[in-house]
Amino acid sequence: GVDVQVTEAVAWFQAYADRLQQEKEHLTELDSRIGDGDHGANMARGWKAVKEELESFDQGLSECFMQVSKTLIAKVGGASGPLYGTAFLRMSMKLKGEASVSPGDWAELIQAGAEGIRQRGKVSGGEKTMYDVWAPLVDAARDGADLEETVLLRSLAETAREKAEATREMKATKGRASYLGERSIGHLDPGAVSTALLFEVLCDTLSR
Ligand code: ADP
Ligand code: MG
Ligand code: MG
Repeated sequence: GVDVQVTEAVAWFQAYADRLQQEKEHLTELDSRIGDGDHGANMARGWKAVKEELESFDQGLSECFMQVSKTLIAKVGGASGPLYGTAFLRMSMKLKGEASVSPGDWAELIQAGAEGIRQRGKVSGGEKTMYDVWAPLVDAARDGADLEETVLLRSLAETAREKAEATREMKATKGRASYLGERSIGHLDPGAVSTALLFEVLCDTLSR
């Protein structure tokens, strides 16, 4: 389809939950290098709950994002739970009354999520966090606003992966990784990688 409606959003979130089960060990390994080694478990647990709750979901698009937000805040824990939870809360607010997301809507939607993370995490660009993926996706979505949906989503997925890779050379100044200072350099940020996966799964799920 041209637009993402609630059915597609549910499919996206359920596929992400499955993907996180596969990537749990990897995310845990990344977090054990520069954090406390629980990011994979945190995300897999929280999104498993999201998947279960969405199995018989019969409300609208905004309500769907709201449900995800509440579940992430309740079930993910750690720093990432409230951060992702806030991103989904802000996106839900942005979607109020909307039945679908068309290619031209993604920039504002992602911006709402990124702003939530920026405020909640008191973070800015270059601090080696998930924000280093969310923020540049706003520009990528703006640049791709006139593209066909599948092309736009491919571009978001590629940008997300590139920006997650770019956290490797950054020095962490927020979250647990900041305790390592210079020693955080040379490792990927786990939250940046889980965010890249979120947008890769969006692309894979909706390009079918
Ligand atoms: P915790 O660090 O509490 O164990 P997680 O391991 O689940 O939580 O999540 C860690 C991720 O959260 C980091 O990789 C980073 O992307 C993100 N993060 C941590 N603190 C912040 C912050 N202040 N702003 C934005 N993102 C942050
Ligand atoms: Mg952790
Ligand atoms: Mg932890």
